[in-house]
Amino acid sequence: QAAVQDRPAAVDTHCPYCALQCGMGVRPATGPGTVPEVVERPAFPVNQGALCGKGRTAAAVLDPRLRLTRPLVRRDGELVPAGWDEALDRAAEGLARVRDAHGADAVGVFGGGGLTNEKAYALGKFARVALATSQIDYNGRFCMSSAAAAHQRAFGLDRGLPFPLEDVARTGCVILVGSNLAETMPPALRYLRELRENGGRLIVVDPRRTRTAEQADLHLAPRPGTDLALALGMLHLVVADGRVDDGFVADRTSGWPEARAAAMAHWPELVERITGVPLPSIREAVRLFCDADSAMVLTARGPEQQSKGTDTVGAWINLCLATGHAGRPLSGYGCLTGQGNGQGGREHGQKADQLPGYRRLADPGARAHVAGVWGVAPETLPGPGRSAYELLDALGGEVRSLLVMGSNPVVSAPRAAHVAERLAALDFLVVADVVLSETAALADVVLPVTQWAEETGTVTNLEGRVLLRRRAVDPPPEVRSDLAVLHGLARRSGHEKGFPTDPEEVFEELRRASAGGPADYSGISYRRIAEEDGVFWPCPGEDHPGTRRLFLDRFATEDGRARFVPVTHRPAAEEPDAEYPVYLTTGRVVAHYQSGAQTRRVAELNAAAPGPFVELHPRLAERIGVADGERVAVTSRRGRAVAPARVSRDIRPDTVFMPFHWPGEGRANTLTNPALDPTSRMPEFKLCAVRVEAAGRD
Ligand code: SF4
Repeated sequence: QAAVQDRPAAVDTHCPYCALQCGMGVRPATGPGTVPEVVERPAFPVNQGALCGKGRTAAAVLDPRLRLTRPLVRRDGELVPAGWDEALDRAAEGLARVRDAHGADAVGVFGGGGLTNEKAYALGKFARVALATSQIDYNGRFCMSSAAAAHQRAFGLDRGLPFPLEDVARTGCVILVGSNLAETMPPALRYLRELRENGGRLIVVDPRRTRTAEQADLHLAPRPGTDLALALGMLHLVVADGRVDDGFVADRTSGWPEARAAAMAHWPELVERITGVPLPSIREAVRLFCDADSAMVLTARGPEQQSKGTDTVGAWINLCLATGHAGRPLSGYGCLTGQGNGQGGREHGQKADQLPGYRRLADPGARAHVAGVWGVAPETLPGPGRSAYELLDALGGEVRSLLVMGSNPVVSAPRAAHVAERLAALDFLVVADVVLSETAALADVVLPVTQWAEETGTVTNLEGRVLLRRRAVDPPPEVRSDLAVLHGLARRSGHEKGFPTDPEEVFEELRRASAGGPADYSGISYRRIAEEDGVFWPCPGEDHPGTRRLFLDRFATEDGRARFVPVTHRPAAEEPDAEYPVYLTTGRVVAHYQSGAQTRRVAELNAAAPGPFVELHPRLAERIGVADGERVAVTSRRGRAVAPARVSRDIRPDTVFMPFHWPGEGRANTLTNPALDPTSRMPEFKLCAVRVEAAGRD
């Protein structure tokens, strides 16, 4: 009893990893030889205490033995420990040297979707005010940018889910497209389970029979890259069967005749041939979706990470609009954002074309407002810069130095070997990170920064719910926050003020910068978040309750109507041919997060998933002569990766799957195609053409 009373209270906070942002408690270490521990926090409504293995083991990465504890500088080719003054001096001088020699746009900034709102905001301001560069983007471009673009195009506003997750459990039918919640955010499966317990129906669209697909009433397994055609075929049947909600279309939308004509050009038999999904299954999906009084389509990276990702998401939105399953209670389209702050990270100015509050950088009114908050003249703010892959591709050319904060593109970017070469070709590279990631290992200066449980700051989960992470433990003595890094660099470039290190002070400024914008945080305070367990944006005043459900009365377009956008099917940038006859698709496993920079360091997670693999169908395995566990070489036009075979009937015979969490010879992103979506600039991570062979012992 005495021992229990002596234990310090757990501090309420949130998981460092995915966009569900599960509530948890962190109990500090009690003395030498003890470590902080993660405890359940059942009162937080989203996950109600449930955590996946990543969340349960999150305290492991706080161990100083697993992470950076000192700044590092490159001396005689080696990274060696240094003091903070030397490291920051070198970093500031290196960036200034490139700017003086080649101009402000020769200095780039690459941020991350895991950064808190305060850091994302400060990083965008740092780039545009202290560095005066237009060259900033972030790894969230690789995550949900196609859904964001489609959301903006159709609804005039992008919030991942326009309703809280609890609505998923109460709707009548969910079509889940290209999402494997069982691996990416297991506690969210509860909502799908409750949906079915309540009599709702679940349709999963995925080329693989995933653990999520196993729970569906109906699983459609289209050929990779054909889900746009599938959505068009469904819309065709909706029209042909007289299931269009004419009243909703007339009262709440615009552009239906053009979208209708595009869908009617996609005959069901043609769609069956393109997708490989049997027509009776497509008809059954239409019946389930239209018979439900309320229904949703939820997408994730499957349809989004394509060179036609914006149109693919747009096709699913059109299906929602035509059937009246949007802008009504328990209905609509939503995107299941991936990274921890994937939602907030895109709202506060680290995107190449955006300012805080989700304002457009090209909008004169937005520039004037934000410049006023920043105390600078609007004309000094640079214009839009390159998107993430285009920025990485320009390294060593027009962009000659780079500051990376919270990202590991050597593992997570498409055509990763090329990206690593570009990083190595830089005149100067600075990386701020928690661990010595594969990208940090290439840097001239590495700055060790605090992480989730060591700092306070806000994140916005996939529902648009703004949450407060609280500092629960002290960081190692020679570790500083990202805000302190930006403060130190700004001061060295003559910006004494404007870059505070206190997160709440930054958040107060963010509130003012976002006021009146699409993502209005002006009514949200740390106090309110703590008292209300999160506040949904937009929240334009302290007496405003926040907005749990969007679009119920009107959409956020100028005329209040949702916009149909006519879309048509087109092939992927790279289709299989005689030389590269198989599709490769990539994704995640439950034990690891993104590039694995943190989770690969956790013993329990490593034991559960020690390395990459190539999932392939028994027929394909037999054809190339490999058995389960034997090495397989996968080759695309960009390179070659080797990993053990995992033979499974859960994948199509024309497709192989690789998770992308690892560097080295099994790096899936060595193979992936950087062909970009013309609207969102999203690379085509989800499919490319490959050759598959037995690798033997080479
Ligand atoms: Fe929850 Fe995601 Fe963290 Fe797992 S990784 S505990 S699902 S927030």
